[in-house]
Amino acid sequence: MSDDQPHAPYPDDALAAIAPLVRGEAAVWLREPGLGLAIDAAPLSTEEVAEARARFTRFEPVLRALFPANNWNGQISSDLIDYPKSSTLGLLVKCDHALPMAGSVKARGGVYELLCHVEELALDRGLLGTGQSLEALLAPAGLAMLEAHRIVVASTGNLGFAIGRVARALGLQAEIHMSHDAKSWKKERLRAIGATVVEHDCDYTGAVARARHAAAADDAYFIDDEDSRRLFVGYAVAAAELADQLSARGLTIGPGRPLIVYLPCGVGGAPGGITAGLKQIYGEHVLAVFVEPVASPCVFAALAVGQGRPVSIYEFGLTNDTIADGLAVPSASPFVMQAIGRNIDAVVGVTDQAMVGWVRQAWAQAGLRLEPSGASGFAALDLFKVRALQAGLIGGGAEPVHVVWTTGGSLLPESEFAALLAP
Ligand SMILES: *Cc1c(COP(=O)(O)O)cnc(C)c1O
Repeated sequence: MSDDQPHAPYPDDALAAIAPLVRGEAAVWLREPGLGLAIDAAPLSTEEVAEARARFTRFEPVLRALFPANNWNGQISSDLIDYPKSSTLGLLVKCDHALPMAGSVKARGGVYELLCHVEELALDRGLLGTGQSLEALLAPAGLAMLEAHRIVVASTGNLGFAIGRVARALGLQAEIHMSHDAKSWKKERLRAIGATVVEHDCDYTGAVARARHAAAADDAYFIDDEDSRRLFVGYAVAAAELADQLSARGLTIGPGRPLIVYLPCGVGGAPGGITAGLKQIYGEHVLAVFVEPVASPCVFAALAVGQGRPVSIYEFGLTNDTIADGLAVPSASPFVMQAIGRNIDAVVGVTDQAMVGWVRQAWAQAGLRLEPSGASGFAALDLFKVRALQAGLIGGGAEPVHVVWTTGGSLLPESEFAALLAP
């Protein structure tokens, strides 16, 4: 699926940066000093994020009614914990692997866009009077209306599950287009909740294109992982949540105490939205480190090449073959690269071996149940620190707070998790 369009030869330093990845080795890319906030600060308005927070709050009674297990309060939020639990090393974990309903970070962006669409439908059909609670959606007239609508999305597994699960609970039809790297248990789990699974023998970029086509032909609502502001804004809400949790711990982020977040990256939507939200709050005092598998470094390659557009990793001889199915993406979201690309501070390419090593270590040391994609942030920690110190990006007396964002895994079936732990 390589790009047939002729393009200017890539700069030698870009090819040199990507070379270790092509050999299957870890690598670090750092943003050039001087790029960043000054160029495209605030790609996202505070009003937009506040509106998204308010929408999540409006939907709490609906989600609580649909998913009553464990007395859940309907809030899509995760804990911020010390790692390991009792240590004072300044390493924190943001536990999105344990988010309600989805067991992954997709409970934020994916579910948010679905809620936007559902609310829009309800208002359009006159099902909600002004100021009326969204619980009216769960009355027979609301459910009958929703049953007639279909949501289409492409996924390597987690986005489809988050959207599919909530869509099906509301009675909407859900059609999930899966790339060839999607794990079969993730397909089965979707069929079990009554979603339609369309299997493709192509990669994620191809699956998104085919899903987009199918949705257009069918007049369904398409959630476009490569081009969605709603997804992006849904993820951005996580930043305010983290900021509240840091304040509650008495951690004031600023020049003496920068925040460094390690964010697993596929198309870039989840890490990009979270980064946009955090930059809005903390400006230059937060550093966003995106983490990708060595075989699927789509954001790494796009930034190293520096042409302001996504590139395909196949152009460099990379394979997209990785155990981290949630991150197996050959080309970044053009929307995300435009919105936040210049504000990504670093990208770290990590090996499958290191991710699996961290699945085991995080379980042994802290009882965290992670999938390889979800554990990848840990694998980037030391690689980033060494390079950032050399480059003077950290050090000089400041005491950073490091936050590893764990993005998926709490709903892994026992047999899948046991296989990952087996030596
Ligand atoms: C989807 C996903 C990501 C990355 O999100 P993108 O929006 O694709 O960048 C990270 N971790 C897990 C477990 C995921 O499922």
